Amino acid sequence: MPSSATGEGRGVEPRRRVCVFTGSSSGARAEYRTVAQELGRELAARGYGLVYGGARVGLMGALADSVLAAGGFVSGVIPEALMTKEVAHPGLSDLQVVASMHARKQRMADLADAFIALPGGLGTLDELFEILTWAQLGLHARPCGVLNVAGYFDPLLALLDRATAERFMTAEHRAMLLVDERPDRLLERFLRYQAPHVQKWIDRDQT
Ligand code: AMP
Repeated sequence: MPSSATGEGRGVEPRRRVCVFTGSSSGARAEYRTVAQELGRELAARGYGLVYGGARVGLMGALADSVLAAGGFVSGVIPEALMTKEVAHPGLSDLQVVASMHARKQRMADLADAFIALPGGLGTLDELFEILTWAQLGLHARPCGVLNVAGYFDPLLALLDRATAERFMTAEHRAMLLVDERPDRLLERFLRYQAPHVQKWIDRDQT
């Protein structure tokens, strides 16, 4: 059974929460950390809570620390098996320990009103694509975006354009993923986001 523990009961429960997927490593460029910290401060300034994977390492840790330092609220969701490997952050407002990686993704999605990916590795990409796939299927209508720091996501965006040109996805679904370099601008765009009302299946009658 998933368990929930409230760290040190810090902060007031926010009305809106943004889930952020990012690396458990710091990456090769200082900009990644700088923008993770900028995002953290921006979330706290707007009174938005952070939902993330609960680790204190890498960009994940830098992000959580910046929210907490700015007086914001952070919910971490971590699978039992990763408690030691990723080193659960000891100072979160709320740390939820779940049974599996799948349960973690589900719990993070349940808690959040919007989703952002910062640079990261396989885990980050997996989490981003799963949440986009759920949006495409109409399982949720919440905004999703990437912070394209130093062009990190350019090859991924190019692949999505290719998938659209090759008719593996619709232009409307391609447009669901908002892209910006600046946390403040991305969060502003989230406020105006409207989910597409399109069927997932393209060319269904031609198959
Ligand atoms: P990475 O971007 O690979 O550093 O991973 C970022 C975060 O995603 C880490 O907390 C990983 O443990 C986590 N992660 C990796 N794969 C999965 C998965 N399948 N489901 C949920 N979280 C994952």
